[in-house]
Amino acid sequence: MTLNEYVTAHLNRSIADCSDEELYGALLAMTQEAAQARAGAAGSCAAGSGKKKLYYISAEFLIGKLLSNNLINLGMYDSIREELAACGRDLARIEELEPEPSLGNGGLGRLAACFLDSIATLGLNGDGIGLNYHFGLFKQEFENNLQQEKANPWISSPTWLIKRDVSYPVHFGGLTVKSCLYDIAVTGYEGRTNQLHLFDLDSVDEGIVGEGISFDKTDIEKNLTLFLYPDDSGEAGQLLRIFQEYFMVSSAAQYILDECTARGSDLHDLYDYAVIQINDTHPTMVIPELIRLLTERGIDMDEAISIVSRTCAYTNHTILAEALEKWPVRYLKKAAPQLVPVIEVLDDRVRRRFHDDALAIIDREDRVHMAHIDIHYGFSVNGVAHLHTEILKSSELNRFYQVYPGKFNNKTNGITFRRWLLKCNPPLAEWIESRIGNGFKKDASQLTKLTAFLDDSTALVDLQVIKHRNRNMLAAYLKETQGIEIDSHSILDVQIKRLHEYKRQQMNALYVIHKYLEIRRGNLPKRPVTVVFGAKAAPAYATAKDIIHLILCLAQLVNNDPQVSPYLKVVMVENYNVTLAEKLIPACDISEQISLASREASGTGNMKLMLNGAVTLGTLDGANVEIAQLVGTDNIYLFGDTSDQVIGRYAAGSYRARDYYERDPALREAVDFIVGPELLRLGQKENLERLREELIGKDWFMTFPDFGEYVRVREKAYADFEDRRGWARKMLVNISHAGYFSSDRTVEEYNRDIWKL
Ligand SMILES: *Cc1c(COP(=O)(O)O)cnc(C)c1O
Repeated sequence: MTLNEYVTAHLNRSIADCSDEELYGALLAMTQEAAQARAGAAGSCAAGSGKKKLYYISAEFLIGKLLSNNLINLGMYDSIREELAACGRDLARIEELEPEPSLGNGGLGRLAACFLDSIATLGLNGDGIGLNYHFGLFKQEFENNLQQEKANPWISSPTWLIKRDVSYPVHFGGLTVKSCLYDIAVTGYEGRTNQLHLFDLDSVDEGIVGEGISFDKTDIEKNLTLFLYPDDSGEAGQLLRIFQEYFMVSSAAQYILDECTARGSDLHDLYDYAVIQINDTHPTMVIPELIRLLTERGIDMDEAISIVSRTCAYTNHTILAEALEKWPVRYLKKAAPQLVPVIEVLDDRVRRRFHDDALAIIDREDRVHMAHIDIHYGFSVNGVAHLHTEILKSSELNRFYQVYPGKFNNKTNGITFRRWLLKCNPPLAEWIESRIGNGFKKDASQLTKLTAFLDDSTALVDLQVIKHRNRNMLAAYLKETQGIEIDSHSILDVQIKRLHEYKRQQMNALYVIHKYLEIRRGNLPKRPVTVVFGAKAAPAYATAKDIIHLILCLAQLVNNDPQVSPYLKVVMVENYNVTLAEKLIPACDISEQISLASREASGTGNMKLMLNGAVTLGTLDGANVEIAQLVGTDNIYLFGDTSDQVIGRYAAGSYRARDYYERDPALREAVDFIVGPELLRLGQKENLERLREELIGKDWFMTFPDFGEYVRVREKAYADFEDRRGWARKMLVNISHAGYFSSDRTVEEYNRDIWKL
């Protein structure tokens, strides 16, 4: 059916007479119908009709807008766009009306979304399970150069959510609630349709949210699914997190048991019907919950533990100790008392088998180490990039590796090329197709065919033209949506990711200060540079918010300085999300991936940017290591201490930031500028002084040792950019080798080694 036929049948008018809102509603309904039709056909689809099904449980699914992506995956995009264009309508404008579902935080949630796309594309039978947060993470607004958090409602009519007639009781201590299920269809590219199952609670009351994102953290029936990661700096916030997690996994476990029973499992063979991938530790309680439910259904404890251990697999996403969940037993007793005896049995068995506190589940301070449950009682533990998995094995989880060497495996992250190339960068996708055909859309490794054009002058000019066009598009978008002006002839140097000290936006900001002072001294760059930041800080993370404050003050200073602004601009986009990422990434020249070596598990922003022809400036961390191996050192700008050096320095406890500050005059000048008169005029004294103190007194993520080399290598990249042909060649090398980072490859590996669907 054409869109025109659809609106004629349903709205009784033609496309030309419909508002953009009506067209959006019609397109949503049309794609939903097409997706469901395919879901109905999927049962008979050979690839996914095996007995076993995957359940990917995650606290986050950062799925982004769905309309264009679904149209692409259903093969309807081109015809719809042309049909609209013929009536003078613009699909891009219509898409602006779609609110971005705000169900994730950063890379981990985006990974889950990319995996769902690849699972469906590869024809695998696998659903996602998570929560339906009404206000998502939060919406970031800037006021007085400070981050303010606002509720981010995204559920409005029409919506992709389909309410199902499925509901489960969830027992908290002294309170029983009824979960209800909403589904979002996940359409694979020329593949099958799976589902994202999002559990919610009818009694949740959006009206209890007051100023910003404040609300009564104790009123579980009203607040349970309002926000992802509510501020958990206090006890009530932490308890709410546990209530959310238990609500998610109890609903998931009941759903999985129901579905497997309906498909023929007698539960003794659950592992033949289900494999559960636990995305980070947030869904860990699914293990004791499943054990509990199996014993409730008459299976004895020993067997229940064995069944569940053969069903669950765990993905680790971080080595940062503060990010590995450890919940006090007394909190669990409040939120999920029925799980505590099960967890005690699990702990007891581990203690009797190993006699080693380091492997215990419940520690001496009565805290439950969630990751330890996953490792002991799951059959697979995977890291998310080669370096990360090696660090898990050799240091962070070394004791576990010694006792379970066979459980550990690596699955280097990936990204879906449907969204991060076909959807976000049509000019580049079309150009690639014109050169190597369309096989790369389903088989990303075919991108290496592009290496045939590395010395083709026309190809290298084409790439520059496409990049320039994308920068113009970005400039227009930022002007219209955020009132920000950028010069599309400047070098676009981009750092977009959650604000965290380990990702070291502060080091980038110190570079900006340094460059500002250099320009004021008359050392003018050959070409203007635009430094772009996009980042949200966790509401309770003071240092991260201070770094945002510094960047915003710098932007105000630099951009209003007539001597400097022709050469340097600083942009901090508001409310960085998937929608903005899709606009920024195709336009970017230099991809800042400057985390402290050993701290970034993988990164996926680095992969998206590489795929879109940005050249990486980064440390040998996470998947940057694999990018460097693929493109070679001439096509990536590396700097900084190695992960071994960093791990050694942490182990020795020998790092003193002040020594570097005292030794390096350029660094000292930049650090002192944070509290100099220029910035104090624009910002809050308290925040800026606190940040400088944090850096000189602690600098836990070691920006100072890397600063000098960072400045040198960044200047080298800017100088090399002037060789336009040489730079375009680097772009093409990066694009050609990005195929490895398709999440299709990652998901195939998960299936081959872990899921075995
Ligand atoms: C890809 C992505 C991330 C992850 O970025 P990293 O640089 O890997 O941390 C975070 N947020 C959004 C919106 C993304 O699209």
